[in-house]
Amino acid sequence: MAIQSLKGTEDMLPRDSYKWHYIEEKWDEICREYGFRELRTPMFERTELFSRGVGDTTDIVQKEMYTFDDKGGRSITLKPEGTSPAVRAFLQNNLYADTQPTKIYYDTPCFRYENTQAGRLREFHQFGIENFGTASMLADAEIIALGHDFLSRMGIEDVELHISSVGCRSCRPVYRTALQDFLRPKYDCLCSTCKSRFDKNPMRILDCKSSEDQELVRGAPMMLDYLCDDCRKDFEDLKSYLDKMGIRYTVDPSIVRGLDYYTKTAFEFITTKLGAQGTVCGGGRYDHLIEEVGGPDMPGVGFGLGKERLLMLMDACGSSFGEAPAPQIFLAWIGDEPKLYALGLLHELRSKGIRADMDTRERNLKGQMKYANKLGAAFTAVIGDDEVASGELTLKNMETSEQTKVRREDLVNAL
Ligand code: ATP
Ligand code: MG
Repeated sequence: MAIQSLKGTEDMLPRDSYKWHYIEEKWDEICREYGFRELRTPMFERTELFSRGVGDTTDIVQKEMYTFDDKGGRSITLKPEGTSPAVRAFLQNNLYADTQPTKIYYDTPCFRYENTQAGRLREFHQFGIENFGTASMLADAEIIALGHDFLSRMGIEDVELHISSVGCRSCRPVYRTALQDFLRPKYDCLCSTCKSRFDKNPMRILDCKSSEDQELVRGAPMMLDYLCDDCRKDFEDLKSYLDKMGIRYTVDPSIVRGLDYYTKTAFEFITTKLGAQGTVCGGGRYDHLIEEVGGPDMPGVGFGLGKERLLMLMDACGSSFGEAPAPQIFLAWIGDEPKLYALGLLHELRSKGIRADMDTRERNLKGQMKYANKLGAAFTAVIGDDEVASGELTLKNMETSEQTKVRREDLVNAL
């Protein structure tokens, strides 16, 4: 058996690549419309960027990172998410010295050592967006609107927006104590990971994937009931901004994001169409991340949207991906002289931006026409000695079988 790919990785096949191109184009388009500009960061970073930025009580950092030592003995990690690298680049390139806010977007592979399932891979791809440098809920509303708008442009209807607030440095400690008081009598029954979370970050226990623990946390106090005045006002502002834009949402106090750095706004776009992997997009505010990564005290807000899950969802919704690319014209030939003529014409058409093709296997005419069909060519032209002599081609519309005569010099216009 030839060598196989690693578990949790997928090939993007030529027959599907147009779908990826489609969502990527639309993503670029919408981000630019909303005034965001693209940032690209390296595939790997120093491990401490993630252990420090993402927070070391999350599954992502505790269990899922692809970390290794390079030949120089540095600890390197393949990026498991896009926000921390974006913050690193923002700081390293002094972007924080420009007029704020900084509105950026990206499209990146992410690597997480996960238990693989449909929609849960070890190498997956994310669209992401970040707004650094404003504490206003207008920024949160803007990125939520962008996510909402993007999903609806992608033809996705029954996706629900869930929003919550996870509080801030002043109200979370109060909540944390209340949660610990609630969990303490159940401590012995928690899974070992959750036991270790009890002191460091008990909120993570609410997000444990084990069903026993899910049962134990039922009825736990909720952060939303413990928000301080500032967080409560922000949450009310956010809701009123979403209302103003006509964006429907559900307040869902159970949202606990997978990363430790979130403050205040947390949100997810959730669907029932992807089984257990129902979150297609998730994000929120992280008002101390920039400082934790070594920068000034500056707020930020953003989201990540899984491209594989988006594509699965679009398939499930019967969304359009634009047209699969096919040749506008296919040139077939009979004989040596016509072959050369076809080659010259093919090159000329291509240089003028026409999607033109011929058979590089040199099959007989019947074989060439079968191949043209297989490629889905819109028109074909068969070139023989007569066509070479007259400079006139017969264009055949492959859908209607209609034939029209066209002079070689008029061909580009005719197509
Ligand atoms: P989940 O709760 O499903 O594990 P998460 O909270 O870990 O998701 P984020 O870190 O917020 O996810 O990533 C943003 C988006 O990236 C998710 O909403 C999802 O669409 C996608 N995503 C996350 N992990 C994976 C994965 N292992 N494979 C495919 N897509 C993923
Ligand atoms: Mg996860």
